[in-house]
Amino acid sequence: MLKSKISRRLIFSFLLITITSLSLLGMYLLQFFYNENLKTKTENLIINARTIEVSLEDALYNPAKQDYVNNEIHKISDATNLRITIINVNGQVIADSWEQTEELDNHLLRQEVQDALHKKYGTSIRYSDTIKENMLYAAMPVYQNDELVGIVRTASTLYPIENSYKHIRNTIFTALCITIILAVLSGFILAYRQIKPIRQMIEDAQKIADGDLDRRIYIYTNDELEVLAQTINKLTTNLEEKISEADAETRKLSLILENMDNGVMLLDTQGNITTANQRARDLFRLTPDLMKKQSINAIGSTLLSETAKEVLKTMSTKSIAFKININHTKKTFDVFFAPIINSDNTVISILSVFHDISVLQEMSTRQTEFVANASHELATPLTSICGFSETLLSGALKDPVLCEKFITIIHTESERMDRLIKDLLQLAKLDSKEYRQQIKIESVDLKEVCLAVKLKLQAQIDRKAQNLQLNLPIEPVIVQANTDWIMQLLMNLTENAIKYTPEQGQITLTCTLDQNKVFVKVKDNGLGIAPEDLPFIFERFYRADKSRIRLDSSGGSGIGLSLVRFIVELFGGHIFVESQLKVGTSFTFYLPK
Ligand code: ADP
Repeated sequence: MLKSKISRRLIFSFLLITITSLSLLGMYLLQFFYNENLKTKTENLIINARTIEVSLEDALYNPAKQDYVNNEIHKISDATNLRITIINVNGQVIADSWEQTEELDNHLLRQEVQDALHKKYGTSIRYSDTIKENMLYAAMPVYQNDELVGIVRTASTLYPIENSYKHIRNTIFTALCITIILAVLSGFILAYRQIKPIRQMIEDAQKIADGDLDRRIYIYTNDELEVLAQTINKLTTNLEEKISEADAETRKLSLILENMDNGVMLLDTQGNITTANQRARDLFRLTPDLMKKQSINAIGSTLLSETAKEVLKTMSTKSIAFKININHTKKTFDVFFAPIINSDNTVISILSVFHDISVLQEMSTRQTEFVANASHELATPLTSICGFSETLLSGALKDPVLCEKFITIIHTESERMDRLIKDLLQLAKLDSKEYRQQIKIESVDLKEVCLAVKLKLQAQIDRKAQNLQLNLPIEPVIVQANTDWIMQLLMNLTENAIKYTPEQGQITLTCTLDQNKVFVKVKDNGLGIAPEDLPFIFERFYRADKSRIRLDSSGGSGIGLSLVRFIVELFGGHIFVESQLKVGTSFTFYLPK
């Protein structure tokens, strides 16, 4: 208990108050009692001296009545227990009730005698060697006919007063001791009662501080401690609310971070990765063990760490384009760096956000390529049209044979341009989202489309003495699509088959269906496509090298197959190709029923 400062202070205060107040009170009372008793005793002695003086009056200093006086003062002394002394003006003792006058010395220089000679009376306290006690003396001057004739002195022992004084002093001391014990005891009890709730409060508050925010302090002392406990409880509730709000906010943020499409990383001031979201971890294969030790350099470029250093130095944001090969795929990121600045204006961390712009980049590259390809494809026939028309104008017109030859070339080239422009327009149409949404979806019978295609291309087939065989089921083959676009799709595939199959070649158009899908296969035994070209043939303007040896004077634009794939996918299908050089090619697509 004494370990507690509060207990020590309480007990000490109790003791201090008790000892001081009791001591002061005791001292005052003792002094008061002693003085009062002394005063009363002195008054009594004076009265007695006066009474003796009055009663013995003339006999007092009359040598003839010396015996009478002696007798009288002995009688009074026996009755009152006082010592009575009659002294003449010279200080000589004439009579004394306790001592023989002959044995007594001159009393003139006694304090009380001196005082009585000059004042109304005199008093003094002296230790008596005779009775070994303190004595109180009172001396009264005696006047006869206005002349000082002597002094009557009365004296009494102070033993009773001093005895009472000692007794009271002991009583007060005992009371003081008892009170001290009681004060210490009550101090202990009070301190215990005060400290118990405080201790409980400290214990609970420590648990709250250690994170147990569900804990509350239950103290019902009906005083300030209870108010303090309630305040701490309120504080804890507020803290709990704030923490859960912050937790929710953090959870929300981490959820956003974890699920966002951008890779986000936090770097320390050394450029080491401290945190990375799921996307960043997946993209750059960051493992938790590696993360804290790994510098951003490990991702594959010093550019990143240099930019991070610059951001750290300038304390400002920075964006860079960052290219990297991930799983043999070229990726381009727009990386945004931002410093995280502390309240004391120092950078504590660097935020880096990796925004994958590979698709955008590819789109832009494709667009550029597309424009270049389209321009190139248009420029080739245009150059030849220009060249031949110039030759015609500079004289060839006059030669009918040359003239016909050149005009035929100009016609063929313009037809090629026309086809190219039509194909481009078709592509542009399909590229437009608005147009795609407007396409009318209807039930299309593929059997009928195949028959129509055969009819339309019969002339071309005949020109090359080829054979187009249709393998169609008996029942109608219905898909939900658009007749014109399905027609375009089959026309492109069949025209290609005709184009890239030598004369007398065999082309087959087969239609099959299962429970959910309709399959169409366009097969030929033509030139075939080299394996290295196969992955690219559906790309715009792509023409396999072999096909550049034009079998048909009309040539190709390299757009047909890209349109085919576009149409198939537009109606929820998929197309694939199988081919072998000099053996043949088969394009198979399916559409949902
Ligand atoms: P093009 O207008 O050049 O025919 P396509 O996009 O239709 O353009 O075809 C792309 C390339 O695919 C062609 O240049 C050709 O090399 C190849 N190809 C397409 N169909 C066949 C086929 N049936 N047999 C051989 N090669 C083909």
